[in-house]
Amino acid sequence: MLVHFRKIIEKTKRALGAFDTFNFEITRGIIEGAVQEKSSIIVQITPKTMEYAGTETITQIIKSIADNQGRGIEIALHLDHGRTLEEVKQCIALGFSSVMIDASNKSFKDNIRLTKEAVKYAHHHNVFVQAELGVVGRGKKDYQKMILSPEEFLTDPDQAQEFVKKTKVDTLAIAIGNVHGHYKMEKGAPKLFLSVLEEIKKKIDIPLVLHGASGIAAGQIKQAINLGIKIINIDTEIRMAFKKALKKSLKDQKKELDPRKILAPTIEEVKKVVRNKIKIFNQ
Ligand SMILES: [Zn+2]
Repeated sequence: MLVHFRKIIEKTKRALGAFDTFNFEITRGIIEGAVQEKSSIIVQITPKTMEYAGTETITQIIKSIADNQGRGIEIALHLDHGRTLEEVKQCIALGFSSVMIDASNKSFKDNIRLTKEAVKYAHHHNVFVQAELGVVGRGKKDYQKMILSPEEFLTDPDQAQEFVKKTKVDTLAIAIGNVHGHYKMEKGAPKLFLSVLEEIKKKIDIPLVLHGASGIAAGQIKQAINLGIKIINIDTEIRMAFKKALKKSLKDQKKELDPRKILAPTIEEVKKVVRNKIKIFNQ
């Protein structure tokens, strides 16, 4: 069942999983996995998925699965890494209860300015806003740079305090050594700077979000939750599960022509990832 973001974040004792979906099969895997764990979740899409599937189409798919297969649990819809006010407005018009405006690649001043604009519009429509401060890098290049000079990426606790005060944002994605993408799955996820998280938590009192959490060891995740992380994004591990299951399915059933039989294992593999993550996040 679809509910407002506020409703599930207020109830969450440990941390909420925020899972990126791309299509029908992955959405079913995410929602059915959460149903099996009897857990609330956030289902989210990025602008690239909006382009790929059509924003209204993918939104209706999520809503429909939430209302049917996901009847027994509470699910919130979120825009992940919104780039523009137009994308934010589009999702709000379709019933999203939370949107991210990611201006973390801009200057501190411009990040504040764009976030403020998004907050003004979203709050007027009773919608939460997530922003990002610091840089959660992406892929091989950022991973290597982050290992050498993490200070270029990490969120500054004083800036975080000023940012939240000025923008009135509802949730904040922070950079504490986390990186997006597949590269770190081969090279080993970087260690989180938990002392930075501790400092940030002392200065701000809104839910903190950990992006790029795929591949980070369960122990580190649990420590981060203890220190104030409230929402954890999982994208890469879902992509990997989908691809692996699809490859195996095609190999195992070379002559199969029924797309349902070919794709069914992808739902099951995504479900497994989601269940495992929820277990870690709830512990
Ligand atoms: Zn992210």
